[in-house]
Amino acid sequence: MLTISIENVNVEITSKCNLRCAFCYACCPMKEGIDVPFKKLNKFFSNFSKDGRRLMLTGGEIFMRGDVLKIIENAHDLGLLVDIFTNGTLLTDKHISFVSEKVDKVFITHDGSEKIHNALRGKDMFKKTQISLKKLISANCNVNVQCTIVPQSFQFEDEIIQNFLDLSPQSVKFSHISKVGMGKTCRNLWLSDEEVLSQIDIVRRLSKESNYRIMSVPDFVNNKKYSISESQIFPKIMPWIMCNGDLVPYRDDSSRTKISSISTYPKLSVNVDELVEKLHSIMRRNIRHKEYFDYMEVVSDAIGELAK
Ligand code: SF4
Repeated sequence: MLTISIENVNVEITSKCNLRCAFCYACCPMKEGIDVPFKKLNKFFSNFSKDGRRLMLTGGEIFMRGDVLKIIENAHDLGLLVDIFTNGTLLTDKHISFVSEKVDKVFITHDGSEKIHNALRGKDMFKKTQISLKKLISANCNVNVQCTIVPQSFQFEDEIIQNFLDLSPQSVKFSHISKVGMGKTCRNLWLSDEEVLSQIDIVRRLSKESNYRIMSVPDFVNNKKYSISESQIFPKIMPWIMCNGDLVPYRDDSSRTKISSISTYPKLSVNVDELVEKLHSIMRRNIRHKEYFDYMEVVSDAIGELAK
């Protein structure tokens, strides 16, 4: 029996972002994006609030919104655990002190090497993110790093490992670029199958020297692993609220694989059990002859077929 988990919700409060990463899965526009109206958010928070429930505020870049602190405060004061996802380039000292009091977990993108980070996210962005990250850690925030690995990253492996050892966040999660959103077009940033597996070597090296949580390659699985885990990962669906206010199903398997704001994602108003079963059968068909595959891409393709 499939059930909808409603203990965790992701809310895309804005589709605006100050960066223009070449591989952005969400194809975020800088200015012409959408903010979910403040009133609409608050109404949802009040309906959803119950102690122990968790909310992830994401975008775009959430600090593009002038009212972001008010949004966090309202959710926190309603008893929700509030997590945030940010690229870390717009945080002021005021934001950091506020976040240390009201936010449960901070997820921040940091690619480990200055050269790689700036090449992927824009000139001088590494410094900005690095400063915010250090300040957040000094303010005792629970900081979780999301590091994107591209083929060029392997030349800077030592720097990446040293940086994360020096920073010592709560966790580091390594991932690679999936061919969805703008990631479809940047071939030079795609990892080969061998490189995806080499990412594990970085994890091994970092694990040996650190005592915090390290995760890797969440989207790249082999067929055997998929068939073992599919019965556990499909039953958990949680809602994702998009900037245009649409509520969409979001599959969650305890942070191992994720799919996010793909505009073709069918709305939750359709029968979710039926929808998940259909998704599942399309995916099974599409991976039948593959040994390894990128989970996010297979889900994205299946969603595209479903939405036709
Ligand atoms: S990947 Fe993240 S930081 Fe980069 S443009 Fe997209 S939303 Fe912004």
